[in-house]
Amino acid sequence: MLSLNRQAIALISDHADPAAEIGLEEAGGQNVYVRHIGETLAALGWQVDMFTRKVHAEDDVIVQHSPYCRTIRLKAGAETYIPRDRLFEHMPEFVSSFQSFQRTHGLNYPLIHTNYWLSAWAGMELQKTSGIQLVHTYHSLGAVKYQSLVEIPQIANTRLRIEREILERANCVIATSPQEQDTLRSLVSTSGQIEVIPCGTDTNNFRLTSKSNARTKLKLGSHEKIILYVGRFDERKGIETLVRAFALLKEQNLQNLKLIVVGGSSANMPDGDEKQRIENIVNELGLTDCTVFAGRIGHNILPLYYTAADVCVIPSHYEPFGLVAIEAMACGVPVVASNVGGLKFTIIPEETGLLVEPKDIDAFANGIHRILFDDLWVRKMRKQASANVNQRFSWTGVSIQLSELYRHVLAQSIMHDQAWNHKRSSISRSA
Ligand code: UDP
Repeated sequence: MLSLNRQAIALISDHADPAAEIGLEEAGGQNVYVRHIGETLAALGWQVDMFTRKVHAEDDVIVQHSPYCRTIRLKAGAETYIPRDRLFEHMPEFVSSFQSFQRTHGLNYPLIHTNYWLSAWAGMELQKTSGIQLVHTYHSLGAVKYQSLVEIPQIANTRLRIEREILERANCVIATSPQEQDTLRSLVSTSGQIEVIPCGTDTNNFRLTSKSNARTKLKLGSHEKIILYVGRFDERKGIETLVRAFALLKEQNLQNLKLIVVGGSSANMPDGDEKQRIENIVNELGLTDCTVFAGRIGHNILPLYYTAADVCVIPSHYEPFGLVAIEAMACGVPVVASNVGGLKFTIIPEETGLLVEPKDIDAFANGIHRILFDDLWVRKMRKQASANVNQRFSWTGVSIQLSELYRHVLAQSIMHDQAWNHKRSSISRSA
């Protein structure tokens, strides 16, 4: 539905389709972020169009999420899965599809919020031919990612250049944590405008509920000690560290331990290699009987998994934010997470979870052990964790901050135009 009273804005999320199923290889935090800010911004009074690349021929071109929020899938390359590192060559087509959609529907977005570097490139291209204002969220940074890769992809230099350009040229870049802001300043550029606005979570969906009910619904025993992982299968997520820490705990002859791993695609997707590698490690360590690979779980069922768990582990090598941490804490589950990036911002050590060094198997095992065997402390953490998320990370709170930022950026552009028109007319008067 289009409305004359609402200001239309566009969100661009090249590869992460806001209408896609979450948890598959390329569907993760970015999809959740764009979808939720889109819906909540619409509830706050904006007309929100979210643009993404069309990946499947059978998918609808337009998905209406709510009266003033929709996903629009644009033609850019073959309608099939293309890995992110090979998408850049299709971005010129993405830009022309975007322009033709605008023309056909008589739309003209004064502000575009881009997500990920490929979308940033599209935003900067669109800016060349129209007076749009640009806001950008990175979601992942080449400068961080390439530090830990043995084989640097060919696209690396282009990505690093565009990540620097967008910081220097956008009206504002959003860092989702103060840690991400520091990283941007130290690794990307010292110029450009940055605002810290965190990611959020749906606190109506992820909230404190009965653990015993959740266990009954998932057919899990009340005596089991459940350690949970939720997320994509990607080596940088550090699932191997968790599995090896789990093996250490098993060696201590602790009873009734169970590891549940949630996430991953069902069919031959590229994350299959990492999944296979993790399954092999589980087999080699003799953990098959006490490990469950639950596959991809939607956000409608996921709260049950968090609530049923005793501890949620986030062993990532790096996280700019880490939605899983706040989802788990919102459900009252303490987390043991790597002391990196946004996890340092969202988790309060000893109060809502524990932070340990990434890849440190012993430290993860110790942290998990402490949480599994200290009921009194965990009961306190359960309440603190959920209160912390409710206070700091609701999507509504996040979108109010974004909304204020957009208004500020749009107001500045009007002032700039007025000043420019004034200057132009005084030049022509004096000529
Ligand atoms: N997720 C999900 N189902 C799964 C696995 C993951 O819904 O089976 C969601 C998870 O709930 C979270 C997102 O995927 O909202 C992952 O976001 P995060 O920021 O933790 O990691 P990213 O994928 O962005 O690296």
